[in-house]
Amino acid sequence: MNRNWVGKAACSGLDPAVFYPPTDEDADEAKAICAACPVQEPCLEHAIEMREKNGVWGGATERERLRIIRRRRRLRAQVSELAS
Ligand code: SF4
Repeated sequence: MNRNWVGKAACSGLDPAVFYPPTDEDADEAKAICAACPVQEPCLEHAIEMREKNGVWGGATERERLRIIRRRRRLRAQVSELAS
């Protein structure tokens, strides 16, 4: 995956600890930064593709990324079922 987006990251130079909160409930500060980040979408897709285990990427915690992965898997299965 193209990583050109990294240079536009709103988190560049910020304290990385903000993006590795102890719990999902402590992720609001990171999510607020991600919400205003111009590269939120490629960041999230990168984290999903790389199966990043920790931290907030593209505005999503690990648990939220897992939900996205499961939802996409279900949708793909439904589309494939409809096509067969
Ligand atoms: S979406 Fe969030 S984690 Fe990703 S580059 Fe932007 S600020 Fe950083």
